[in-house]
Amino acid sequence: MRIQKIIEAKRDGKELSGDDIRFFIHSYSQDLLPDYQASAFLMAVYLQGATFKETYAMTEAMIKSGITIDLSGIPGIKIDKHSTGGVGDKLSLTALPLVAAAGLPVAKMSGRGLAHTGGTLDKLESLPNLRVELNKEEFIKQVKDIGLCICGQTAQLVPADGKLYALRDVTATVSSIPLIAASIMSKKIAAGSDKILLDITVGNGAFMGSLADAMVLARLMIKIGEGFKRETKAILTDMDEPLGKAVGNYLELREAVSCLKGEGPADLEFLSIHFAARMLQMAGKDQPLGDLKREVKKLLDEGKALEKLLLMLQAQGGDLAALMKDQPMEDLCKETVYSTEEGWLSSVKAKEIGLAVVSLKGGRLAKGDIIDHSVGLELHVKRGHKVNLHDPLLTIYSRPQQTEKVKEIKTLIPAFFEITENKPLTKDLVIKEIGFGEV
Ligand code: URA
Repeated sequence: MRIQKIIEAKRDGKELSGDDIRFFIHSYSQDLLPDYQASAFLMAVYLQGATFKETYAMTEAMIKSGITIDLSGIPGIKIDKHSTGGVGDKLSLTALPLVAAAGLPVAKMSGRGLAHTGGTLDKLESLPNLRVELNKEEFIKQVKDIGLCICGQTAQLVPADGKLYALRDVTATVSSIPLIAASIMSKKIAAGSDKILLDITVGNGAFMGSLADAMVLARLMIKIGEGFKRETKAILTDMDEPLGKAVGNYLELREAVSCLKGEGPADLEFLSIHFAARMLQMAGKDQPLGDLKREVKKLLDEGKALEKLLLMLQAQGGDLAALMKDQPMEDLCKETVYSTEEGWLSSVKAKEIGLAVVSLKGGRLAKGDIIDHSVGLELHVKRGHKVNLHDPLLTIYSRPQQTEKVKEIKTLIPAFFEITENKPLTKDLVIKEIGFGEV
């Protein structure tokens, strides 16, 4: 009965008490509430929003649904990064090894793919045998031993987020500012880092379509972080087009490796260096951003960050042999689609491309769906490129039994790209930074 009253109150736009929120989070994470009531609650929050007090209480209750990690035994400032989600967003796999290579311990708890966006855990698990479900001792040991660990929430760590995350994914309740804030900040606080850098993505492929919403989300998460005494800053980045060229779990892991080998793509390398340099600044390196970027670039060029990434993948049980061969995993069908137009590529629609990968089973359509890590799309062009007739636009990696699906995706391709007569204006990848001395 109590849960009905709570859902009703939220549905009618009333502010819930901390007790009500704790009751909901506790009951759902203990399997005492059915999915249909939890879904109704999530939809009520999605439609009515939540106050700061409610969002903070939700974050706190989610943290308390499991254990928290104390990293104080590891010397130095521990720093974490989290993205609000994007398409082709493998930045954690490139920026964090750079930070670790610079000597800063990185302890990160990541998420899975949500809706049309990918998740770092799914990308990591595309490597055979790799484990993301580490226990507290394994997590701390790995950060101590190699300075880099990316794990997932588990039955012990923020279990409430694990359950709610999967439910939101299939109930159209992902793009809610308070739900995103509580989901991300609960993981960040529980994982124990001293400082947090948020990547708030904005645009067609992000959950925040507008700059105004992204600013609200950034400020909310920063305020929650401050409440838990964790210095939190945010960088708003462009997510109108996919980051890099690979979209799909294993393709993205390979692209992260290429990037750390110094082979680009340029947008991914740029953001990786930018984020790593900002994280070093947050950890107290008192140098101008330009100098730190040069330092980070040197680590990339020397292969030090690639070394860190490979050490991490290996420490978590990943089989590196396939990855180092730099070939698509298993016998996939590969089909390249060519342009039937000429002109300038003025937009590459991230969301549509992300949804196409989901439709190939590279993401989840239903709760608990087993995903196919190998499928995906590889772009051959990026926004601002000149496209000639018959130039390759993208390659589809699919399974032999997916010929119908591939045909369907091919009919959608005109909606992925906007080709115009005039060269589009260039767009900045970093839209705004909050906490680095600017408003
Ligand atoms: N990443 C998360 O961890 N949670 C969200 O809700 C969105 C992105």
